[in-house]
Amino acid sequence: KNVLLGGGRGFVGRHLTKLLKDQGYSVTILSRQTGKDQITWNDVKRNGIPDGCTAVVNVAGENILNPLKRFSDQKYVSEIWKSRVETTKLLADAITASNKFPEAFVCMSGVGYYPPSKTASYDENSSGGDDWIGRLAAEWEEAGKLSDNVNTRHVIIRSGVVLGKDGGMIQILKPIMKVFGGQKVGSGQQWLPWIHVEDMAGLITYSIQSDHVTGVLNGVSPDIINNETFTKTFAKSLKRFSFGFVPEWYIKGMFGPERAMVILEGQKVNPMRTLDVGYKYKYSTISEACKELAS
Ligand code: NDP
Repeated sequence: KNVLLGGGRGFVGRHLTKLLKDQGYSVTILSRQTGKDQITWNDVKRNGIPDGCTAVVNVAGENILNPLKRFSDQKYVSEIWKSRVETTKLLADAITASNKFPEAFVCMSGVGYYPPSKTASYDENSSGGDDWIGRLAAEWEEAGKLSDNVNTRHVIIRSGVVLGKDGGMIQILKPIMKVFGGQKVGSGQQWLPWIHVEDMAGLITYSIQSDHVTGVLNGVSPDIINNETFTKTFAKSLKRFSFGFVPEWYIKGMFGPERAMVILEGQKVNPMRTLDVGYKYKYSTISEACKELAS
């Protein structure tokens, strides 16, 4: 059993690699760099997917919230797009051209697919938004479509914010909160769709292993919370007070208005199909997740 994993050196990829290996898979990482058990995107372009590949997964993507980069930098914006859409398309083409189709092709997407709203409630059947991140997610998902003659299950996971000690938002927030306590962001009323990184790895593994899983799954916890609830719960787990707020102008100054929207607005996302297909969460409430993240 072998999984070809695009972006496997990243935060989600590392957790997924560990879980797959624990379950007896070998993992070939697809990276921009060469290395042990690694191949490059150019290798796939030239030689296709490796023989004996049971599943292909893509979690590659240039960091959207890099505060050192500006959204006015065309090269950066183009990397955000290319690192998702072109890598996914390359894998879809390589699967189509392969001698033996892998069982599953699991592609990452984001809840940014849905338009931010305080009142709307979304499930996997809801329509996407037409802001830049909604269009990016739609193109990213489209890039992975396989033609009808390809006998490979295509699964798309629309991920919420992935919470784990060793990457993403928590790695940045935890040391700050330990010193300054918890501060909600802006009004704190924006929805914060989230998933623990072990559940993200778990859901991708479940998608690889379950013949009945196909199509879009919302990669979010069933515990639907807003930014204020998250801040209070995480601060409590860290034994810190939660008070005040980070002003919107500060976030806009740091990231620019286009990306600040991702933090200052949110979507109320239900994991309807994820529950329907039978995935069992390890961390289904924010308090259980925060306890682990604070430990
Ligand atoms: P990481 O930032 O850890 O990056 C994942 C990998 O993407 C990197 O290890 C890198 O692999 C590859 N990558 C980065 N930039 C580029 C580029 N310009 N071109 C090609 N490859 C690139 O991401 P996460 O693990 O946190 O997230 C995985 C995926 O899930 C991403 O697509 C992300 O957008 C999505 N997602 C993540 C969320 C989160 O909260 N973390 C929330 C919602 C969606 P290498 O250096 O080996 O080439």
